[in-house]
Amino acid sequence: MGSRLAVSGSELTMPLVGLPSGSDMTERKTFYFDNNATTRVAPEVVEAMLPFLRDFWGNPSSAYSFGSQVAKRVEEAREQVAALIGAEPKEIIFTSCGTESNNAVLQSALATQPGKRHILTTAVEHSAIIRHCEVLRKQGCDVTFLPVDAEGALDLHLLDQSIRTETAVVSVMWANNETGVVFPIEEIAAICRSRHVLFHTDATQAPGKLKLDVGEVGADFLTLSAHKLHAPKGIGLLYVRRRTKFQPYLIGGHQERGKRGGTENVASIVGFGRAAELALTRLEDENTRVRALRDRLENTILRVVPNTRRNGAKEPRLPNTSNIAFDFVEAEGILLKLDELGICVSSGSACTTGSLNPSHVMTAMGIKPARAKGCVRFSLGVYNTDEEVDYLLTHLPQVIARLREASPEKPARHAKTLSDLAPVVLSQCLPSLQK
Ligand code: PLP
Repeated sequence: MGSRLAVSGSELTMPLVGLPSGSDMTERKTFYFDNNATTRVAPEVVEAMLPFLRDFWGNPSSAYSFGSQVAKRVEEAREQVAALIGAEPKEIIFTSCGTESNNAVLQSALATQPGKRHILTTAVEHSAIIRHCEVLRKQGCDVTFLPVDAEGALDLHLLDQSIRTETAVVSVMWANNETGVVFPIEEIAAICRSRHVLFHTDATQAPGKLKLDVGEVGADFLTLSAHKLHAPKGIGLLYVRRRTKFQPYLIGGHQERGKRGGTENVASIVGFGRAAELALTRLEDENTRVRALRDRLENTILRVVPNTRRNGAKEPRLPNTSNIAFDFVEAEGILLKLDELGICVSSGSACTTGSLNPSHVMTAMGIKPARAKGCVRFSLGVYNTDEEVDYLLTHLPQVIARLREASPEKPARHAKTLSDLAPVVLSQCLPSLQK
């Protein structure tokens, strides 16, 4: 039932959840398990933003009260996001996204320390660090990408050994977006401090899932992106520790105390502030209920679907993330079949220039291309329910079995046939269906 929304000649299908009442769009239930890619904007966040789109649209830099009242709200949001990471509001610079924050840190560290042309990072960072480093390398910088082991862990002794006198900055993500593996950020920060080198952490995947306290950790820079914590896309922040030298990346007006030019994205900043407040209140739910959902999803898949393996599970992990290798099948096929059922998950593969390459994270973990191409990331969030996990578990084993039956690389012995799978799943693994 329902029609579709035509946008510039293309069609959008609306998810059933969050459908604006009275809208003329196709209703389709979406089962969203891709919260590391982006998150639903929380209704509370939309509420907080609306007045700043509709009524209070003044420029916060304007001298009259129509502008200054908006500036006041931006400062309140700065306090809210600072509280999320244990920072002082003055240490927060609002940016356009996590990518900008990451880029700004590397550029600033090089610009403020002209004699230092070495960057130390890891092989599993987000492309906002890795690809930027590759460009910097072409411009004459030296970059070390630290390896990880088969579980996605870093060797901290090697990290220490890799710091040089000309190292401008060490950049290590707090948690990995593909595997959820959490790095020992406090220990890494302590090593950097003892070696008098700047330390940046890309914490984009961590808020609302882990307790973040920049004071306790001792990072000099930290990146966040609002759309990973139920706020809109196109807004991020960079924490710069007080008295740390910083050179602006965007040069223009005097916004953000002269640290980032450009008229503030007021409504999104306000939304980010509200989302930061919500993230603090939802930390426990994420670490109990969401973790239990993730564990049930993961354990059931491993038990019911043969030839599967968990990636990075021996290391501390984010409570919402599961990365599973499905042997003898390509992730892209799984994604397409699940999409037909309204299920959103993502692959560990990056699609580059038309060819499917295994993800750099899986490659860095030493996972062979054949297995890496079958890796799927499930990332849950506070809006996921038991019933949604049941729906996924009801369909996934059959999707895999069908794809394997059609695959030229199918396993020699199918431990379970298609007809075996459904009753096993339904009777043993789906408590909500037994209610
Ligand atoms: N860093 C990490 C770890 C991420 O997961 C992402 C987004 O996926 C980014 C940075 C980039 O953030 P943004 O999309 O706001 O540019």
